[in-house]
Amino acid sequence: MSTDLTRLDASDLASKIHSREISSVEATQAHLDRIAKVDGELHAFLHVAGEQALVAAKEVDSAIAAGDKPASALAGVPIALKDVFTTTDMPTTCASKILEGWVSPYDATLTTKLREAGIPILGKTNMDEFAMGSSTENSAYGPTRNPWDTTRIPGGSGGGSAAALASYQAPLAIGTDTGGSIRQPAAVTATVGTKPTYGTVSRFGLVACASSLDQGGPCGRTVLDTALLHEVVAGYDPRDSTSVNEPVRPVVEAARQGATGDLKGVRVGVVKELHSDSYQPGVIASFDAAVEQLTALGAEVVEVSCPNFLHALAAYYLILPSEVSSNLARFDAMRYGLRVDDGNMSAEQVMAATRAAGFGKEVKRRIMIGTYALSSGYYDAYYGSALKVRTLIARDFDAAYEKVDVLVSPTSPFTPWKLGEKVDDPLAMYLSDLCTLPTNLAGHCAMSVPSGVSADDGLPVGLQIMAPALADERLYRVGAAYEAARGPIASPVA
Ligand code: GLN
Repeated sequence: MSTDLTRLDASDLASKIHSREISSVEATQAHLDRIAKVDGELHAFLHVAGEQALVAAKEVDSAIAAGDKPASALAGVPIALKDVFTTTDMPTTCASKILEGWVSPYDATLTTKLREAGIPILGKTNMDEFAMGSSTENSAYGPTRNPWDTTRIPGGSGGGSAAALASYQAPLAIGTDTGGSIRQPAAVTATVGTKPTYGTVSRFGLVACASSLDQGGPCGRTVLDTALLHEVVAGYDPRDSTSVNEPVRPVVEAARQGATGDLKGVRVGVVKELHSDSYQPGVIASFDAAVEQLTALGAEVVEVSCPNFLHALAAYYLILPSEVSSNLARFDAMRYGLRVDDGNMSAEQVMAATRAAGFGKEVKRRIMIGTYALSSGYYDAYYGSALKVRTLIARDFDAAYEKVDVLVSPTSPFTPWKLGEKVDDPLAMYLSDLCTLPTNLAGHCAMSVPSGVSADDGLPVGLQIMAPALADERLYRVGAAYEAARGPIASPVA
């Protein structure tokens, strides 16, 4: 075959598959071959499901051959799925020892949607354990490496999904974003990722980290591919009690409009508090250049102030651990996965020994912080105060969105750092979430689009675009317009 199918965008693969120029089996096999070739070094996948993916691909090919309309705009295009969504035909470990080898008795709603859309699942991707971390080094199964520089982190917690995209092991991927786990990995691998509005992508079958913040979402190499996947996975689900019963936003139309149009009449706010001298100079330079490009596209750019964003980190790192300490209580050695029991232990001893052996350091740290923050003597001082800050952040957003349509900032203050550099300094690790956290606390939506590479070190930088709840299409219009104006970014991956 002359073209390397792994280099094509998902939208191109889809049109070639639907016109029978190529088959889904060929596209899927090309990606499985690529995984076999490069993933030994990168470790983006925890589990590869080649056989199942090819069966799903064959079904798509047969349906198309029989003259059926493709099941979705992406039917036949394979995907990498973060190992935090349940799947009945492969393990779901959340990169934790406590769930090693565990296979769910049911599929997550998102998994079902992928299957119904005819999207073959290549396998499950690596992540920080239970989605806690910003580097994928908290995986119990070893880190993922950044395809741009294999001595560096791919971001986290969804580093596996981002690395799979950046290294052409998958043309589409799914992540989850509780505090930035879709957007920060996208930024440091020069890929695209969206955290949709809270409640618009079902959490049924998504193993909970912090339920009031968690949101699954689409990842791709282009804004259009990400939009196509967004429309596949979004939608009301009565099995998720926080699901929003609203129509899916027209994000594909917005991406197409953005790619061919200008941004006249669009008001863009640069968040003053997310533009700091403490960020890496090359990140700020890349961001400032992106803002100039938005201006050149006709957008009206103004500075806006959101003073409470400076407290987002402190509030998030109380609210998240509090919810984690409660959610992870279900891993009690009785119902799921690992059980450490020498036969002479009481139930309490089995639980304690299992949790001690099964959870990693960061997960234990957060369970302890959360248990403390929720304890009767400290609830008001910690968890209660954090909730008040959360409200103030939402009010800052509301005030800003009276003046502008979208807000922008760098996605992460830094380019990808060296593996090992921040593992012993959790606070330094948490700082990489500075710009992404406010969106999660408010329940809004945001996207990261590559803004080129930093002049400091030649490594990827992401532009973050934020929009109000249920205005996800604005991200895609602005993101696609910017992406088209920016032009391609040369990938270093051979
Ligand atoms: N890095 C953040 C954290 O460690 C975000 C994680 C996420 O979005 N799942 O909590």
